[in-house]
Amino acid sequence: MDAVQEMRIPIETNRELTGVTEKKASIQPVFATDIEGDQFDMLIDASGARSPLATGRLRKLSYGAFWATVDMPGSHEIMPNALDQRYWHASKMAGIMPVGTNPATGNQGAAIFWSEKPENAAGVIDAGIERFREHYCELWPEAEPFVRQIGSMDELTMAVYDHRTGQAQTSYRLYHVGDSWHCTSPQLGQGANMALIDAAALAKAVERTSSLKDVRKIYRRLRSFHIKLYQSLSVIFTPLYQSNSRALPLIRDLVIHYFARWPLVRNFITHTVSGVLGFRRF
Ligand SMILES: Cc1cc2nc3c(=O)[nH]c(=O)nc-3n(C[C@H](O)[C@H](O)[C@H](O)COP(=O)(O)OP(=O)(O)OC[C@H]3O[C@@H](n4cnc5c(N)ncnc54)[C@H](O)[C@@H]3O)c2cc1C
Repeated sequence: MDAVQEMRIPIETNRELTGVTEKKASIQPVFATDIEGDQFDMLIDASGARSPLATGRLRKLSYGAFWATVDMPGSHEIMPNALDQRYWHASKMAGIMPVGTNPATGNQGAAIFWSEKPENAAGVIDAGIERFREHYCELWPEAEPFVRQIGSMDELTMAVYDHRTGQAQTSYRLYHVGDSWHCTSPQLGQGANMALIDAAALAKAVERTSSLKDVRKIYRRLRSFHIKLYQSLSVIFTPLYQSNSRALPLIRDLVIHYFARWPLVRNFITHTVSGVLGFRRF
């Protein structure tokens, strides 16, 4: 943002992108209000998982989650600087994650989530906040100082997760970064990392060449393997954490309990959740 402001690049807000018009020498964004944008050499789509320009088949995942942000309580027994979770097999999952400042209060905040199937969401909302708190604290009694802060079901948002791996570039002048290229369940917690690395790689590609053909080659070379690897890992690992399976969570628990301290396994886990597995520096 500092760099954009320094270069006096205009920022236009409150425009819903619906498509693009591409000509031989330029590309132009098209907005819902019928206002046509300026003409550009290239356009970067960073409009997330539901991008109107994205490609690839969107697959809804069987589990999503209710989310809310609360204040970090004065005293509690949950890990203060790390994601902490509790499971019942893989069909129930409660999590608490420190998130810096809670924008609603300005205090130190924590995101709190509860795994749920999208088709059950309406029932959970109808059952009310007392029932929600009860279920949450049955699985994780120590979470009570966090959960008690949620005053009503309106304060929770049901997030539905999608999995899609589209194309990095869908026409000569149109590029995608982040979720508009690839989205998945947040189990590995890498969505923000991947989006930032895509943006850095695309900037690097543009820096290295002025030919759009070469930008495409460099961008793909820098990002394709890493993205495919993490999209595959997400498909493999998500059912260990959110599914109806009884066998997979058992394997998860045994592996974590008996092998997670082995240097090779520990190294794999650390690299995976840091986003650097298979990453080529550029
Ligand atoms: C519940 C949940 C929890 C998550 N937890 C984590 C986590 O712990 N760690 C992690 O790394 N990742 C997490 N992720 C994934 C992460 O949020 C995404 O991967 C990341 O935000 C992708 O960044 P992005 O910039 O590509 O898209 P987004 O952050 O989705 O940004 C897209 C932007 O484009 C705007 N937009 C959308 N459509 C249009 C349009 N038609 N016209 C104009 N603007 C538009 C949106 O309003 C938004 O501002 C989570 C995702 C979810 C849903």
